[in-house]
Amino acid sequence: GYRSRSAYKLQQLDETADLFDDGDTVIDLGAAPGGWLQVAAERVGTGRVVGVDRQRIDSLDGVETVRGDLTDEDVQAYLAERVGEADVVLSDMAPNMTGEYDLDHARSVYLARQAFDVALDVLAPGGDFVAKVFDGRDLDALEADIDTEFEYVQTVRPDASRDESSELYLVGKGRMTAPVEPGD
Ligand code: SAM
Repeated sequence: GYRSRSAYKLQQLDETADLFDDGDTVIDLGAAPGGWLQVAAERVGTGRVVGVDRQRIDSLDGVETVRGDLTDEDVQAYLAERVGEADVVLSDMAPNMTGEYDLDHARSVYLARQAFDVALDVLAPGGDFVAKVFDGRDLDALEADIDTEFEYVQTVRPDASRDESSELYLVGKGRMTAPVEPGD
């Protein structure tokens, strides 16, 4: 069995957006308790899976874990140095919920932008990025920023997210190496 119900969301994201190939290196941000790590490890076979969380992640076969706060620049730098290049960067990070819609949205966008920074640091050309975010007024700007760095961006709402109606995932497909010039 999987450690979290979230595992089914990642399965569906992979079926929708074709994220994983055998041999891929995957970084999973906000990975505790580890459901996404289990799915990623199954799908990359001989590849490498690295999970990061500020909470403890119980050990999993074939998975490396790092404990730290992803908003900490030192943790981001450590991760980039340790992993080198990655094929997929995932973030299921979520803020502590206050129930105040705009605040929870803003905090989720902040975490997604931190994950985006990590992705820009480590993703190989053609690599993919997934970040959870709660819907709200800053979503379009975030999506546009991701779109400038990838071939295209998709918005995916997995069935397993239906109860949490404002939750969705932004998927950047195909990291581009050079910025797109107007007219390209
Ligand atoms: N995808 C996971 C799974 O399948 O088991 C579930 C992730 S859970 C929804 C969100 C996680 O994000 C929590 O474990 C939380 O500790 C982590 N998180 C939130 N903010 C973080 C931060 N700044 N740095 C590291 N982890 C963070």
